Amino acid sequence: MSLSRHINADEVIEKSKEHPHRKHTAQEGRQTFHQSWSRDEDAARAPKYTIPEVGIPSKAAYQLLHDETALDGNPLLNLASFVHTWMPPEANQLIMENINKNQVDLDEYPAATIIHNRCISMLADLWKAPKDTKAIGTSTAGSSEAIMLGGLALKKKWQEARKAAGKDHYHPNIVFGSNAQVALEKFARYWDVEARLVPVNASTNYVMNPHDAIPFIDENTIGVMVILGSTYTGHFEDVQLMSDLLDDLEKRTGLDIPIHVDGASGAFVAPFAYPNYKWAFDVKRVHSINTSGHKFGLVYAGLGWILWKDESMLHKDLIFELHYLGSVEYSFTLNFSKPAAPIIAQMYNFLNLGFDGYRRIAIKDLRNARMLSRALEATYFKVLSNIHKPSKNQAVTDNDDSDDPELYERGLPVVSFKLSDKFIADYPHVQQAWIQSMLRTKGWIAPNYNAPEGEAETEMLRIVVRETLSEDLCERLIVDILEITEALMGTSMYSRSTFVDPSSPTHAAGVATATSLPHSSAFSRVPSHSAYARPDDVVGEGSALAIPSSLVAPIAFNPPYAPSESSSSSSVPNSPLLSFPQSLPVAALHQQTLPARVTHTLLLPFSFLFHMFTAFFFLTSLHLPFSFFSSPSRPSQSGSAVMLSKTLHQPDKDHGRPEKANFGDGDNEGGVSQSGFARQC
Ligand SMILES: *Cc1c(COP(=O)(O)O)cnc(C)c1O
Repeated sequence: MSLSRHINADEVIEKSKEHPHRKHTAQEGRQTFHQSWSRDEDAARAPKYTIPEVGIPSKAAYQLLHDETALDGNPLLNLASFVHTWMPPEANQLIMENINKNQVDLDEYPAATIIHNRCISMLADLWKAPKDTKAIGTSTAGSSEAIMLGGLALKKKWQEARKAAGKDHYHPNIVFGSNAQVALEKFARYWDVEARLVPVNASTNYVMNPHDAIPFIDENTIGVMVILGSTYTGHFEDVQLMSDLLDDLEKRTGLDIPIHVDGASGAFVAPFAYPNYKWAFDVKRVHSINTSGHKFGLVYAGLGWILWKDESMLHKDLIFELHYLGSVEYSFTLNFSKPAAPIIAQMYNFLNLGFDGYRRIAIKDLRNARMLSRALEATYFKVLSNIHKPSKNQAVTDNDDSDDPELYERGLPVVSFKLSDKFIADYPHVQQAWIQSMLRTKGWIAPNYNAPEGEAETEMLRIVVRETLSEDLCERLIVDILEITEALMGTSMYSRSTFVDPSSPTHAAGVATATSLPHSSAFSRVPSHSAYARPDDVVGEGSALAIPSSLVAPIAFNPPYAPSESSSSSSVPNSPLLSFPQSLPVAALHQQTLPARVTHTLLLPFSFLFHMFTAFFFLTSLHLPFSFFSSPSRPSQSGSAVMLSKTLHQPDKDHGRPEKANFGDGDNEGGVSQSGFARQC
């Protein structure tokens, strides 16, 4: 958080500490207490930034990390990510049974190898690989590695053709939309291929229009990457049209440009939700397709796939022959070792769900996404994704009870939205980003970010409707979004905050309209034999429209950290009861720099969590100084930092983040900073 720009948190913490437990640890070890009660003592022996010289007990290490990871968001409520977060108990069991197997040990684990290869066959069939070609593929760590391989195969093929023709083969470029996920730009930069980004805008649905791509293509173009399921809005780019336009280009110029489809999400949605839609290997110019097994393949994080339509499209330079234990195998991945468990889990899903199960889940996800879209549109928002809009090809009437996704515009079950123009006009002080922050206080994680290059001034909120966002949870989410928005409407910088009556007709209407589509159609539910059947497929229960009841009671302020008058200043305060005023170990924070009026009118009516959070983001958005945290004259060389490094041999910061000045912009000009990417995972 931006806190660290103003202060060094480690220093503050170190200054605030006493170290009686270190003494205990050194002298008496953990015999003093039963281990369950000695977490601070155990942890004190583990430095933060260097490997402990002597380890801590296994239970202590577990507890430490168990507690620390509790700070992570709840994966179920992580609506920001496409990555799947739940599998049935049988899958979990299989994963644990195979967690210690390395997929690359082909001879040692022949069953895992066979399962892997059968997954490839199933995907080749799902993606309509022609019978007269020999599809080939591999699992990867995710779509990113798969995209690197897909791009490399295009690059090698182009280079070979250029060399054969005696032409320059040092200046390859690749064409894709500016809505591309960061993996595509990573491919280009890491492998020295010029990225040609086709601008997108609202009129192209925030995805690449194939017509706009054509002018970017020349003799150095190794291929076009077409995205099936934009991370911004879920829209599909038109693979067939791209292929047709490239045919036309070839007729005119002789350039033969292949397509790689980035189907990270879409390649596991389109075949099931839109079985007749043409986007895969049945499209002429599609050479390769990648997908993330860990997105709509419904496996936990750590699995991607790439397939080529035919062996000949995977350049031989990328294939390594492995001789081991007397047999020969082939490897064409970036990574050597990788876990076998996710692959086995993928096969579990193929077997357990079958085509029909995946289809039902895709239909369910899209139905929930439509409900969410309609509720948002019926209230304060404009929805930028399209999957709730009737398809242009087929007329869908209000009475139509079918939830066949073909009746609507195609796309991923993603809802991108922003505050409506009317709302912005009526409540100009409300910033859309606040909705993200306030949802977070309720546990929901939903990002607010800028649209891609070409339309970058538009901010959008995005919710990925994954399998775990059940209808029931989706209704809760709608209620929470509306409640939050109305709370913001009722606030202004200078007026007393008010909540809109939750039982007001607008409120109820939004949810009612949105849920009014019947759910009785033939394929509306996941089959009960499937482990994926959830009780929440139950429909028709009223939504509870509760207002936040947790108004904050003023906190009694009795600082437990100040030594009492009676305590002797020379004694080390080992016993809190003797040397401190009698009070509970509660630290109450005070927003001393906020104008009292702002504090009281804005913050008091909210829950405690929200109180803390809002204060923080108001401070940052108002650019008020953090004088609560930073002392007016900060010593240049802090004693605690020195002490820290002497006693614990710790560097005073972690090393996970590069300095901004070291970011490149891809032109090999060190020190030039780049504009950030919205994290789209
Ligand atoms: C998620 C995603 C990626 C990156 O995939 P990982 O599996 O996270 O490596 C690339 N492209 C698109 C369109 C994505 O949605």
